[in-house]
Amino acid sequence: MDKKICTYICTGCGIGEAINIEELSEVVTGEMSQECKTHACLCGTEGKAFLENEQNGEGVNTFNICACSPRVMQKEFDFGDESITVRANLREQVIWTAGTPEEGQEESHQEWLQETASDYIRMSCTRAAKTELPEAFLMESMNKDILVMGGGIAGITAAIEASKAGSKVTIVEKADALGGKALGWAKQFPTSYPYADLEDNSIASMVAAVDADANITVKTGTEVARIGGSPGAFKVSLKAAGATTEWTAPEKVGVDEQDLIDKGEMEDPNAGLKPYGEENPDADTFGAVVLATGWVPADVSEFEHLGYGSNDKVVTNAEFEAMAKNGKLDGINTVAFVMSPGGEENDQDFPYCNSVTSMVALKQAKYVRENNADAKAFILYQHMRTPGHMELFYKGIQEDDGIFLTKATVTGVEDGTVHAKDTLLGEDLDLDVDMVVLAAGMVPTTKVENTINLAYRQGPAFLDLDLFDGYADSHFICFPYETRRTGVYACGGVRKAMNMQETMDDATGAALKAIQCIESADRGVAVHPRSGDKTFPEFFMQRCTQCKRCTEECPFGALDDDEKGTPLPNPTRCRRCGTCMGACPERIIGFKDYNIDLIGSMIKAIEVPEEDDDKLRILIFACENDAYPALDMAGMRKHKLNHMIRFIPVRCLGSVNMAWIRDALSAGLDGAMLIGCKYGDDYQCHFVKGSEIANTRMENIGDTLSTLGLEPERVRSEQVAITDYDKVPDLVNDFVDEIVELGANPFKGF
Ligand code: SF4
Ligand code: SF4
Repeated sequence: MDKKICTYICTGCGIGEAINIEELSEVVTGEMSQECKTHACLCGTEGKAFLENEQNGEGVNTFNICACSPRVMQKEFDFGDESITVRANLREQVIWTAGTPEEGQEESHQEWLQETASDYIRMSCTRAAKTELPEAFLMESMNKDILVMGGGIAGITAAIEASKAGSKVTIVEKADALGGKALGWAKQFPTSYPYADLEDNSIASMVAAVDADANITVKTGTEVARIGGSPGAFKVSLKAAGATTEWTAPEKVGVDEQDLIDKGEMEDPNAGLKPYGEENPDADTFGAVVLATGWVPADVSEFEHLGYGSNDKVVTNAEFEAMAKNGKLDGINTVAFVMSPGGEENDQDFPYCNSVTSMVALKQAKYVRENNADAKAFILYQHMRTPGHMELFYKGIQEDDGIFLTKATVTGVEDGTVHAKDTLLGEDLDLDVDMVVLAAGMVPTTKVENTINLAYRQGPAFLDLDLFDGYADSHFICFPYETRRTGVYACGGVRKAMNMQETMDDATGAALKAIQCIESADRGVAVHPRSGDKTFPEFFMQRCTQCKRCTEECPFGALDDDEKGTPLPNPTRCRRCGTCMGACPERIIGFKDYNIDLIGSMIKAIEVPEEDDDKLRILIFACENDAYPALDMAGMRKHKLNHMIRFIPVRCLGSVNMAWIRDALSAGLDGAMLIGCKYGDDYQCHFVKGSEIANTRMENIGDTLSTLGLEPERVRSEQVAITDYDKVPDLVNDFVDEIVELGANPFKGF
């Protein structure tokens, strides 16, 4: 595209009053050699008409809008697929965070305000000049069918809902029949007001609906052997349940293990299996995958004082359900439901217990009472969780004189006696019962086995499952259903413990996400969180040293590699986070609108004044997912930011290439900070690992700076949540104070 660039400075929202617009325009027309126009309100009716004429009359196709934050007015400044828009944030990050000058400081306040605005304009002019129009990656052939793994309530619901939306679906279920755990239920929770009575199990009618649906193919006694390919073209090999075939995905073998295998000291777990990249020519093709393999009951035998495994009177909730289903409750007239393992000073629940196990105890207490009106149930809990309408169910149970509920610490079970202390009755209890039921938790299948079997370079399973206790998820807060493998959407027990109604809602969501992913792949655009983004990483392979950093660090397994280590991109798996770009030491990965040269040139466009302690320059890379919006909101609240800071938004901290930091400090900037999402146990990074990876890189660059004679304290990585808008100004202002303490960068002027 032949670019016709013009910069538009909006003088509305107080920008015109705060900044000398004439001087600012001269920066554009003089230093930056670009055309510049001003308008009183670019987003208003007249402003839009003005810009429309600029596009259609004057032929402008690259708009540098210098006004409000790029996070707002996106529709107003969208000029279509054949035009480029870049933004300079003069409102939120210059005038709204400027504060008011102290008495006698008016002149210097005005001076630095002008300098700050000029730097943002320089950067946006550079960005406009360097940005290229993206072209979507379009697949040669596209399959829109959906594979559903698991034929329980989640899988059945996902299949039915996807079918209703017009998709063809195949359900793969390893058991001999559809239905999953629900086949073993005697009754199910109430689903309608007054939420008092248990309902007949509806799984048979759900299975019948699948059988009657011409869009749905069912393969029972079958498992996935291997999934290769990518959204729009997943290549799925199936196998008989429990069998191993040559297409079963190889396990990831570490360097040490490989050494032992090579020496013949360890058996090769992948002997006889095809390497990860090799496709099965007979594989079925699907557009997306719904992972609905559910959960398995947790092992409770570790709690020896409760006697499970050694005392016949102690069973799990799953075993008790089977007894109820098979009509084997006669003669069992007193039952204790133990919901927490207790022991000494322990108020924790059984592992993987949750609201569903609370409700199951209530349901099973009702079985006891419905079987025999004189029977009694004792529910001993530490935490009773009955969300939503289930609170009414709980209340109904409380009103039953034959069901006793108390908070209690169970100290042991001997024969048919349950010993408990710290009860709500204020006294210790010794309950003589016919049966003791332990609330075994619900462990996601992804925790115990790898059912997904990906033929990906990064291994057959989801990485870092331990971050989420084995649940298949990529971001609890923002992106339910999305796993760390694009195009694979999790629902039901594999994602979170949930009851039947919740599972059905969840499965519907996952089915819609699968359809959305297929449609996005068809249009060549990204899925969440950069939905609609047409760019994808491009590699200048001639300079690739096959170091494998990009393939190893991609959080989504989007990059395979060949035997030499040359990356093999799978564009429809890519979420466009740029982590590969940040990883590449050769700087050969980039996007049309976001690359090493583009951001590097923006950094160089910042004017670095000669040594002057009041004119230091501190660069902050702010992740556009949480940090940048938090900074914008700080601006909306008129929190003051130090005038020496310059922000550059980044897709993810993982995309920050350390070359930018080195270049910034070599160019004389005095400090650099990265602000991104939280990582660790409660991580919120929108690209799973990006902020953590960036932190590690920053630790390493600190060492590099020391060898250059620069203080490592000049670089820092911080984490914030989007709600930290009141804290983030202190975070950055304190960093500026520390840099001021250190003094100017000694490289300044060289
Ligand atoms: S690191 Fe991010 S941008 Fe790079 S290939 Fe992976 S998903 Fe795509
Ligand atoms: S990080 Fe860069 S040099 Fe290394 S394998 Fe990837 S593209 Fe090649």
